[in-house]
Amino acid sequence: MQVTPELMMQYMLLLRNKGVRDKRVLHAMELIPRHPFAQGSFSKHAYDDAALPIACGQTLSMPSVVGKMTQALEVGPRHKVLEIGTGSGFQAAVLSQLSRRVYSVERHRPLAQAATKTLNDLGVVNVTIIVGDGALGLPDQAPFDRIILTAAAEDPPATLLAQLKEGGIMVLPVGQSDTVQTLIKVTKTASGLDYEELEDVRFVPLIEGIAPRVHR
Ligand code: SAH
Repeated sequence: MQVTPELMMQYMLLLRNKGVRDKRVLHAMELIPRHPFAQGSFSKHAYDDAALPIACGQTLSMPSVVGKMTQALEVGPRHKVLEIGTGSGFQAAVLSQLSRRVYSVERHRPLAQAATKTLNDLGVVNVTIIVGDGALGLPDQAPFDRIILTAAAEDPPATLLAQLKEGGIMVLPVGQSDTVQTLIKVTKTASGLDYEELEDVRFVPLIEGIAPRVHR
């Protein structure tokens, strides 16, 4: 697929109109093409503000939501970031442009493998994708400056909050599966946790455990 300057300009305008205003985030999204993360013929919709289906019954999130979550995360160049729910790898790729290092955990092995390849092909070198249960976080690499969940939990998982540095920010959708969820931003301070509600969103649910292998 050919990304013309006109298409890119339209995409950037769309993101801005939907509330992605942070220049660093917009620049990161300009550097990371979205079509390599879409499946087959869906790639022609990669620059629309639409969620797209990927393998294992999962979804590549809407680009405006990726932008707004990234913006809310206030990622800095020295930060070590943890993402739960790699999916296509698109969110991780955007984060890679803004931070020092990204660890991303995915429970579906085929998705983790495909995302690793897409990131390699794009020359992204500071993202490590791990197959595992993201609800457990990544104790070996903790603590993190920033944590982002791209699957909805009923509450912010205590295990993940424990892996967040003081002064750190966690952004996640919270709510029951298949109903309206709310995007929330949690800031860990010396005296406790501050919660801020951002907007209503819809994500696939956070599911415990690694997905079983499918035998064919
Ligand atoms: N960030 C992705 C969108 C992800 S969709 C992108 O940019 O494309 C949410 C993903 O979370 C799915 O791939 C799903 O398999 C994964 N997921 C759900 N529960 C999980 C868990 N407990 N641990 C790790 N990944 C999980």
